[in-house]
Amino acid sequence: MLMPFSPEPYVDFTQDGPRAAMLAALEKVGQQLGREYPLRIGGKTIDTADKIKSISPANPDRVVGLVSKASADQADQAVRLASERFHDWSHWSGEARARILIKAAAIARRRLYELAALQCYEVSKSWIEAYADVCEAIDFMDFYAREMMRLQGAHPVTPFPGEENELRYLPLGVGVVIPPWNFPLAICCGMTTAALVTGNTVVLKPASTSPVVAATLVEILDEAGLPPEVLNFVPGSGGAIGDTLVCHPLTRFISFTGSMEVGLGIFEKAARISEGQIWLKRTVLEMGGKDCIVVDETADLELAAEGIVAAAFGFQGQKCSACSRLIVHQKVHDDLLARVVERAKKITIGDTVTPENLFMGAVIDAPAHKKINEYVGIGKQEGRMVLGDTKVPDKGYFVPPTIFDGIDRNARLAQEEIFGPVLAVVTGKDFDDLLAIANGTQYGLTGALYSKDRQRLERARIDFHVGNLYFNRKCTGALMDVQPFGGFNMSGTDSKAGGRDYLQLFLQGKSICERW
Ligand code: NAP
Repeated sequence: MLMPFSPEPYVDFTQDGPRAAMLAALEKVGQQLGREYPLRIGGKTIDTADKIKSISPANPDRVVGLVSKASADQADQAVRLASERFHDWSHWSGEARARILIKAAAIARRRLYELAALQCYEVSKSWIEAYADVCEAIDFMDFYAREMMRLQGAHPVTPFPGEENELRYLPLGVGVVIPPWNFPLAICCGMTTAALVTGNTVVLKPASTSPVVAATLVEILDEAGLPPEVLNFVPGSGGAIGDTLVCHPLTRFISFTGSMEVGLGIFEKAARISEGQIWLKRTVLEMGGKDCIVVDETADLELAAEGIVAAAFGFQGQKCSACSRLIVHQKVHDDLLARVVERAKKITIGDTVTPENLFMGAVIDAPAHKKINEYVGIGKQEGRMVLGDTKVPDKGYFVPPTIFDGIDRNARLAQEEIFGPVLAVVTGKDFDDLLAIANGTQYGLTGALYSKDRQRLERARIDFHVGNLYFNRKCTGALMDVQPFGGFNMSGTDSKAGGRDYLQLFLQGKSICERW
């Protein structure tokens, strides 16, 4: 009998024990950098001459690992072999597949600090963000394993005289899994293991900026006893091999998390029927956001300022749930903004692999650095910079916390996803106006409202149109099965990852009736 699911607890890095453990892990992982990682196709490992060179964003001279790069032919082969293996794997019991996840979660728990340290090197997460990412990966596996046990077998239907009726859930087939880099273990693990535990075979194409963390997930699942042919690992540029995977006639579903632009392209391509294809491809597409925190004139401003700074600048603003718009009532604008700026000024920034335990690291790569700085330039035209252009380390892709006031609700800074530490402040005249601004983008992922007005909180439950809504707390940091996660409108298909409906996206229902 398994213990009921409960989220993996965080640690406090101001305490000596966790701090010493993290420093030791950083040292150990630092000594192992530069390893090579193969592809995995049909259970065989393959080293290619062409490699993805994964580097540290905070120190681009530091090579984290060299990861073999799949060609389009190899991507095609991976889908074919995954398809051949589907029959066997789909006949494993749900319980047996779930046990592999429970075991993998236990392995990850034993290696928690080391897995967190790797993220400090590969994506420049702060210690606590990296630790939380690994906790989330563990939670995904522990939770989805239990969910699979619940979903397996016959489900009751209304009894009918003279017949025996039941409903069972069956896996779909080959799933192409395409995760982003920003939760390099958690999201990659959640998407991959959800597809696997439900009995599908998987072709995993990791993000090209975090392939070493993804390769580590493959190693953990291997150690946990996952049959190697069931999970194919094909790193490679999305632009080069994405279409082969998405358009393949043997691909049954695509599970994607990433930008709206790429997600929409996949949506369209997946809708076209390739020659020989005998099903409609299912797509689970989780995309970007232009998330906001709304603060009305009744709110606790100190509490709000704390939440805003954490949600806007945590992991350099590179969360799909990050607060990139502060929407504030005109009466409290000056007071709140002063508090936000005061807090944000104290943020420490640098290479998070140092013993400093810094709040912010570098942004993911040179293109992101360039794009964010272009938005800083746009912000200077569209509003007034009240924080920004502060000194950051010379080496690495650092962007300081940046805040623009006086941004129009329709300005680019208020409408476009920047995915960096840039906060746009938009002012509203009353609560109706605040809500209209909040809902006035094409996205609908996360939002928060700080207010003490009961009627407004109740109204926002209905009218604040986001997939994840928070009251009097920040809009980031959803927990497994506590706040199932997914957005509305152009933020995606609202799959509610980490929720009780999620696994059904990778299953199909079969009604079975026997007449007596
Ligand atoms: P991205 O550029 O869209 O990439 C996501 C994944 O798609 C990567 O593995 C990428 O591979 C791949 N890809 C790129 N072009 C492709 C193509 N033509 N065909 C198939 N795959 C392709 O996004 P990102 O920069 O990694 O992640 C940041 C974005 O993800 C933000 O917009 C953020 O809001 C969103 N996000 C959303 C959620 C959510 O739950 N809604 C969660 C996290 C992140 P390469 O790396 O090789 O290009």
